[in-house]
Amino acid sequence: MGPPGAGKGTQAKVIAQRLAVPAVSTGDIFRVNVTQRTELGREAKRYMDAGDYVPDAITNAMVRARLAEPDAADGFLLDGYPRTVSQVEELDSMLAERGSGLDAVLLLTVDRDEVVERLARRARDEGRADDTVEVIGHRQDVYADQTAPLVEVYDGRGLLVRVDGMGPVDEVTSRVLRVLDQAGAAAS
Ligand code: ADP
Repeated sequence: MGPPGAGKGTQAKVIAQRLAVPAVSTGDIFRVNVTQRTELGREAKRYMDAGDYVPDAITNAMVRARLAEPDAADGFLLDGYPRTVSQVEELDSMLAERGSGLDAVLLLTVDRDEVVERLARRARDEGRADDTVEVIGHRQDVYADQTAPLVEVYDGRGLLVRVDGMGPVDEVTSRVLRVLDQAGAAAS
């Protein structure tokens, strides 16, 4: 977890590789569908371009299908999901059905100026249509409103680990691996 621009996607790929599990990024799956002009992509694009969340029913069904694939049988790293209280409930039921649970919920903390600067840079580099100035602000508000409350939910379950997301990418990776190890979540 972390606000838009916290570095979730960047860290997720490296950490998943180190833990030998697939990184399941809802944002990436939506973007692939948008590029390939699938029906899911056409539906999702309207919300993403506006900086809004894609409706829970669509997102939940997509994650459920992805986690049922064989490469996720022994574990996975979720990036960008769950983002709403309803998604937490749906994930809980998916996990209950497989008789497993989360090892840890990682929160990347960053300051707002850094986040906005990163997003502006990424918009330039990748030409992301969802990263215009107004939309960047709106996405921060949506995160504060809909996703920030999940921090307390997972903290209450004793799963939350906070990591300082400021500084060079590889330093943040080292911090993440260290805390996951302490949380007993990292493979040896
Ligand atoms: P960031 O990490 O910058 O917040 P992502 O790449 O994870 O952005 O996601 C991009 C967009 O995809 C989000 O702004 C949202 O519209 C949509 N999206 C991603 N994950 C979810 C989710 N779990 N629920 C609803 N919408 C989502």
